[in-house]
Amino acid sequence: MKNFDFHAPTNTLFGKDQIQQLPKVLNQYGKTVLLAYGGGSIKRSGLYDKIYELIGEETTIVELSGIEPNPRLDTVIKGVKLCKEHQVDVILAVGGGSTIDCSKAVAAGVFHEGNPWDFITDKAVTIEKALPIVTILTIAATGSEMNGGAVITNEETKEKLGFHSRLVIPKVSILDPTYTFSVPTYQTMAGSADIFSHLIENYFNQTPDTMVQDGIAEGLMRTVLYYTPTALKEPTNYEARANLMWASSLALNGLTGNGKFGVWSCHPMEHELSAYYDITHGIGLAILTPRWMEHVLNDDTVERFALYGHRVFDLEVNDDLYITAKEAIKLTYDTFVDWGVPMTLPEVGIDESLLEEMAEQAVHHSNISTKAYVPLSVEDVLKIYTNSLVPMIF
Ligand code: NAP
Ligand code: FE
Repeated sequence: MKNFDFHAPTNTLFGKDQIQQLPKVLNQYGKTVLLAYGGGSIKRSGLYDKIYELIGEETTIVELSGIEPNPRLDTVIKGVKLCKEHQVDVILAVGGGSTIDCSKAVAAGVFHEGNPWDFITDKAVTIEKALPIVTILTIAATGSEMNGGAVITNEETKEKLGFHSRLVIPKVSILDPTYTFSVPTYQTMAGSADIFSHLIENYFNQTPDTMVQDGIAEGLMRTVLYYTPTALKEPTNYEARANLMWASSLALNGLTGNGKFGVWSCHPMEHELSAYYDITHGIGLAILTPRWMEHVLNDDTVERFALYGHRVFDLEVNDDLYITAKEAIKLTYDTFVDWGVPMTLPEVGIDESLLEEMAEQAVHHSNISTKAYVPLSVEDVLKIYTNSLVPMIF
């Protein structure tokens, strides 16, 4: 296990009606609030009205609305402008990963001279200060509610890139599972695929001596596998929504990734799909993950894949580890198929025309060619993309 520095300071208020604490929570930071939200789901669910009812009288609310799934740099810049104009004290991000990520870039952008794209693209530009962020999560997926990461799309350059800073970790996150009852089927499965992918990315890593982290990841993966079908069938099943929501936060707050060496594989490849085609992040991950697994299965990795099959899918370990490993990959693919995920690129509007360019960009934008679990060259990424054009056959 590598040395690490674990820091998960978000005050998490979990459960039904925790929103009642919102006035007290916001009061700690000031009276002018930037209310950041997406395309309107919070209006349809009644959450928007509830927020005004609770804080509308005592607080000045400035709105940043219409934050896109795969949030855009233009919207970040708009948010920064609003915060400066109105001297905002705190950002209230209400929504999913897109709203929270955009809010993080705004929070840091307020104190950055120049374009926020600077600190997203250039690791040498440090974030010195940020506005405090409070979140009300409405979809179980990214873990952004409890971490310092954010991913922003620059439409002009067709780049979707992430940044990380402890200064933008939400101070308080309100996690009321009932707010996820209205998440549509497609987004529910995409969210679960994203949680599952975060766990897979950490689990398949060059540092195998991390039983604590891996045990937590196995438990969380089993949770996602167990509860996603229920959430899809019965969207208002509290038990399922609650477990998925908490799994989302714990999958990516450092618990399962600390003490490890290396970088993720499927996320950098997916970010290119989202950057070029604006597809739903979790769906892109579901498509790529089993193809990536098949591609990196070799004598060095087979034991890990067999262990994954045993611990996560309860497979008996065969003397021939390849049999168990391949069965685990098949079960991963079948799981996404059973949820109803479109499992080929053409089904989400992607053909072969830009695969090569995206493969080059995936390697250019990340360290996957040197530091991934199994290092991936442009040719490897292209092969994984190409294999994603057609259904897998086992
Ligand atoms: P999202 O993009 O925030 O939201 C997806 C869609 O779901 C939106 O159309 C949204 O509608 C809708 N929605 C959300 N909550 C809803 C509800 N309760 N009822 C009905 N509709 C609802 O989804 P996400 O998967 O959470 O975020 C994806 C983004 O996060 C991607 O850009 C991804 O790259 C990034 N990401 C970040 C991290 C991180 O650690 N920071 C990790 C992984 C991925 P409205 O817009 O109308 O609300
Ligand atoms: Fe993700």
